[in-house]
Amino acid sequence: MVIARFAIGWAVFVAWTIAIFTLLEACAPRRRAATRWRAVAGGAALLAIDSVVTRLLDHTPTSADLARVAVAWLCSELLSYGLHRAMHRLPVLWRFHRLHHTREPLAWHVAWRIHPVDAALFAITTTIACAVAGAPLATAAWFIVARRVWTIVLHANIAWPATALDLLIATPSFHARHHDEDHVPANFASTFAFLDRMFGTWRGDLATIR
Ligand SMILES: [Zn+2]
Ligand SMILES: [Zn+2]
Repeated sequence: MVIARFAIGWAVFVAWTIAIFTLLEACAPRRRAATRWRAVAGGAALLAIDSVVTRLLDHTPTSADLARVAVAWLCSELLSYGLHRAMHRLPVLWRFHRLHHTREPLAWHVAWRIHPVDAALFAITTTIACAVAGAPLATAAWFIVARRVWTIVLHANIAWPATALDLLIATPSFHARHHDEDHVPANFASTFAFLDRMFGTWRGDLATIR
């Protein structure tokens, strides 16, 4: 029963995401590109593994102090930023993270191309952040789901211009720079771009962003 519910949840999420983002990329693409269905299928399989990892976390809804949840989110983003940076710096971690960084053009489904070891490490850091902030551990599972949805937007091949917003939060134009393999790795944050500003790893077109 639990497996059937999990499979239905995964299938519904995959179907909705394919419908919404294939349409978005067709209507307002950053550059014209056909959908690579084999990559979508591979990504959906990896998402299933990622979802199993998240499923292992506690999902029990509990009332939580909003301030603690906010601090937990900030801690989680801080730890994820550090982990992501380490993934690019340490060969032992890059072995897994490089699956996310092929030279293929960016598209929404690249968000799903995450090695299971990466997914597990991000889940662990998010859980640690919730424990440190004193937020219920079930919060970690919801953080991971929220981040998973936002990272699909980040990778989408949509015409999202660089604006001052890129200085504060991660946007598709901000994350596209992270995948630009011709430059030094930068823009590691998954939601709070200001972390990259704080730690000197923010890169973008400052001529257009004031
Ligand atoms: Zn990366
Ligand atoms: Zn990415």
